[in-house]
Order: sequence, then C-alpha cells, then structure tokens
Amino acid sequence: MSDTPMFRDDVVDTIPGDIDLPPQMGSYAPPLPPGGYLFRIPANVAQLYELYDETPKDKDGNEIAGGKPIQRIRFKFTREHPLVVVGGPHDGDGLAATISSSPRKRGKKGSDAPSVADLTYLLRESLKDRTTVVGTTKQWYAAICAHAGHLVQLKTGLQGNCRQDNVRYVDAAAEVLRLQAANLPVPIEVQERAQTGGSIEDPQGTKGCGVRYYTKDFKDEKGAVVFEIDCDCGAVLRGFPSIEQFLPPITG
Ligand SMILES: [Zn+2]
Repeated sequence: MSDTPMFRDDVVDTIPGDIDLPPQMGSYAPPLPPGGYLFRIPANVAQLYELYDETPKDKDGNEIAGGKPIQRIRFKFTREHPLVVVGGPHDGDGLAATISSSPRKRGKKGSDAPSVADLTYLLRESLKDRTTVVGTTKQWYAAICAHAGHLVQLKTGLQGNCRQDNVRYVDAAAEVLRLQAANLPVPIEVQERAQTGGSIEDPQGTKGCGVRYYTKDFKDEKGAVVFEIDCDCGAVLRGFPSIEQFLPPITG
C-alpha cells in the first residue's frame, strides 16, 4: 500500500495570470468620494421596496404618543442592487442607500415649511415628475416603479458612526506599540495589519462612543477627502457614502 496521493485531475480550473482578480471578502474598496453623480435607478426597482409602520408625528416632527401606526414605503438600494454611477471616472460604481416616504421636517425649527419625504425630493427634483399623484403607499410604489432604469443626479457625502453597540476598530500600529510597552506578545495578524496601515477590532473589546461624523469631518489637515478618520475615543472610523441632496437633472 502506497501513501502517495492520487492526482485524479477530474477538472482543470485555471485563472489566467493576467486578469484582475475580484476583491476578496473582507477587503475594503474605497467608497465613492463626496460629489455629484449621475445614477441609474435599477431596472428591478419594483423588487427593492419594503413596507414599514411608523408612529404618527405632529407638525413639528414629534411622535404622537398612542397614535395608530402609519404605513410607509422605502426603497432599499443595497450592495447587490445599488444605484449605479453612469459616466465619469466612477462609471459603474454602486451606491447603497435607502429612500423612504417618511416626511421629515426641513429647514429651521419652528418654521412653517412642510415636512417632506426623501422620495418626494427624488420624484419632484431629480426625476422632474410633477404630475404623478402620490399620497398613498400604493401610489408611491407605482410612481417609483414607473421610473425604473431612469437617470437621477444626486449629491453624495460621507457618514460615520462610532457605534455604541459594536466593538470599535483601532489602529493596528497603535496596538503594536501598546503591546510592546506592556511587554506582551504581538500577534502576527496585528503585526501584518500594522505594516499596511490597517485597523483591527479592539482586542480589549471596547465599544464605540456614539459620536457621528459627516462629510466635513472626512478631511485631512490639507482639506483632502479621506475615507477613514480617528474618533476622539481612539476608534478608527470608515466613512460610508450617503445621499446628501437630490439634484435636478443637468440639461444641455
Ligand atoms: Zn468614538
């Protein structure tokens, strides 16, 4: 009996050496930098909705206690079904976003401005659709589905949340220094992450501090856009692209 393994060679799986491999799970592709982009609404937008209940609010946006829940609709553009950039250097990049029919108070507190939903801005401003009647959840569904595959101009920004319900990420290089100072062994993964300037889940298990960051915060000292910033609590935070404004179409 021989212990030599038998190479059966049932299949030949080869990846050419000269192609770009797709990104691996867990790798981090830099997100869309803040700016104005033309996006295409997915052709299958009719499948990307979700109905949910909301507590009714008064004209100042405060929840009415004991009010009967109101049904709303939201369209969820996910990593698998994103809004996709059309044209320019970011052609083909995706944006995950949720756009809902929940009215929100706009403008200054105490002003008489009506509460307006993001979906209303999408329809009226970006799609320039001022004729479709929308009010009910069903009308909203029909109105947005009618624009499947259409183009919209949106301004995106970055948002970061130092979440109190998750263990924070810390700079791997700082963790190496902390371990060395304490005369503790430095795990090989931490060393490797430190060499590439990466971050790791806080080995001490500390959670985030709850502070939120916006586009203006994702800048370096020179004012250039960065996608990772240090929170005051010591966490390393990534910025996630978000819709900041529904822009009118660029004509001409
Ligand atoms: Zn923090």
